[in-house]
Amino acid sequence: MFRPTSFHSNVSSTDILHFFHISHDFGTSRATIMTITTIIFDVDDCLYDVGTGFTAHRNTDGATEFMVDNLHFPSKEAAQQLRDEYFLKYHSTAKGLSAAEEDGRLPPLPDGVSLQPGEKRFDPNELDKYWATNLDFSMLGGSLDQRSLDTFESLSRSSTQIVGFSNGPRLYVERVLKEIGLAQYFEPNKLFGVTDVLPHCKPDKSSFEFVLNKVGALPEQCIMVEDSMKNIRAAKSLGMKTILIMGKGRKQQALNKGASLEPRPQKWVTLRMIKIKPWMPLLKLSRRLTQS
Ligand SMILES: [Mg+2]
Repeated sequence: MFRPTSFHSNVSSTDILHFFHISHDFGTSRATIMTITTIIFDVDDCLYDVGTGFTAHRNTDGATEFMVDNLHFPSKEAAQQLRDEYFLKYHSTAKGLSAAEEDGRLPPLPDGVSLQPGEKRFDPNELDKYWATNLDFSMLGGSLDQRSLDTFESLSRSSTQIVGFSNGPRLYVERVLKEIGLAQYFEPNKLFGVTDVLPHCKPDKSSFEFVLNKVGALPEQCIMVEDSMKNIRAAKSLGMKTILIMGKGRKQQALNKGASLEPRPQKWVTLRMIKIKPWMPLLKLSRRLTQS
């Protein structure tokens, strides 16, 4: 039976994601090149640190003020309860509110307000516009540090394609990337918000397949960079390599709660990182790929 038994990295500063793959088959060896063509980045709590508090802001006031103003929830508390219930199931506020409407969980329309036949009460694009203009983006702290920017600059000059895939809506995602200084590295046709993939969203297999199809990549040619273990498992199940971003903030939150930071199940995660760094983690990745 043909079975790969070892990999040797062939890493240079300009072409970092090609690896020699040495296979052994009935006593004979042959080398092939295994190429990573595509790196897919999640955005929230992945390209900026969860410790900024921006995600907490978006998922509390950012979501509930929209729900009170646009969907007629009686209070922010009632809105938060429903938002959290559906976020647990769907991992996306936009997807969750769409599902809540289908389940008949939105409050009744006020007197004198009616819908046209087939008209939906919740429009994900309205949430998108609301977030893109009303959230407090100053919490992100402006542009990323120079080393992180250098990482993207180097990647953009390599043959590896940079893809963004978020469960946040598109205009909002574009605004985040602009605020942290990365907008120029994500070409419009290689950036996907949840509004581009609905009714699917991560971790649905179909959402990943949609993105892979659009960018012309096979799963085994991709690395998925994520902070969500649900999404990491889905990506790994499809055959991608995975980088789990822990975030300084998340690590500290866990330590404050007295939790021990147990290693994540190794079978799902090719490499763990606190934040995206330049060459060193990618060199480590080349070694880790020998075992996954
Ligand atoms: Mg994320």
